[in-house]
Amino acid sequence: MTPPRVSSAEGGLIALQSLETRGGVKKAAIGVDIGGTSVKLGLVNPRGQVALRDSFLTGHTPGRAGLLNLLVSHIRRFGKEAARSGFKVLGVGIGAPGPIDVRKGLVHFFPNIPGWRNTPLKKILQSRTHLPVWVDNDAGVMALAEYFFGAGRGSRNVIALTLGTGIGGGLVIDGKLFSGPAFSAAEVGHIIINEKGRLCACGNRGCVEAYVGGRSFIREVKARLKKGAKSVLSSWLRTRNTALTPLLVAQAARRGDPFSKKIWRETGEHLGTALAGLCNVLNPEKIILGGGMAGNGRLIFGPVIATIRKKAFPIAARSVKVVPAKLGVDAGLVGAAALVFSNKGTREAR
Ligand SMILES: [Zn+2]
Repeated sequence: MTPPRVSSAEGGLIALQSLETRGGVKKAAIGVDIGGTSVKLGLVNPRGQVALRDSFLTGHTPGRAGLLNLLVSHIRRFGKEAARSGFKVLGVGIGAPGPIDVRKGLVHFFPNIPGWRNTPLKKILQSRTHLPVWVDNDAGVMALAEYFFGAGRGSRNVIALTLGTGIGGGLVIDGKLFSGPAFSAAEVGHIIINEKGRLCACGNRGCVEAYVGGRSFIREVKARLKKGAKSVLSSWLRTRNTALTPLLVAQAARRGDPFSKKIWRETGEHLGTALAGLCNVLNPEKIILGGGMAGNGRLIFGPVIATIRKKAFPIAARSVKVVPAKLGVDAGLVGAAALVFSNKGTREAR
């Protein structure tokens, strides 16, 4: 079940003081979701409820120093507000959009925010805020959010994927976010499902992302229409002032357009093929799918589940549930806070 929202406004500072108290002390963590467009902050309690939130635009800050200054001032203000409202802040968790050395809290680089190469984010923030800080990549953080507070509750082995322009992934194994020794694990999007297949953004051929990522999906639809495939999409694009998006293809599929139904079925089958392999390797209890491409219900979940049943070993296929993500836009900051709770032992692996 989704934890109840105690505040839902985006931006602006909203304080609520009615969150549950345990043993007289209200524990909380500051979760920070750094995105290419905006940075979201939230004061989050161990139940995943957001007591206080704020956000600012990433692009409005000049360079790394400017963004760091804004991060520090927001975290300090959150700390003060939290203390005034009777919370004990256990630490700061950061979800960051790029490869991270999780142990050192070092940002290798951000693909979409310039100037962050080799930034010791944990060290800088700890010395400037005097709070313990944990940093992980955004895909892992979202997996942790779903594991603790969303669709993964009650399972110890979870694969959580965000299906958007690309595919982001996080693996929770035996109750722990799995990163690997170089913190590069969980790149589910780059599982190769066809050795001589489509070219992927990573430079390889046949990665599942080259079939299921939103950008590749649209490229393929366009190529097929150009080759003369018959679809209601052609007339929609001619007569309506609309862009070709996965959502539009989903609408056409729901209206019974055979071309659109086929392309969604194929997309689900490609993803299902990669996931069937993962089921054989990891025997997960749950596979959680979120992000724009997963928002089209049965169109994607139907063929994914059917393909896993067909291709994974029956024992692994029987024990996995494929479910939609629950946390939506809050997953990033709630999961960042979960980094603190899991490292502080406030939420034990179940
Ligand atoms: Zn790739």
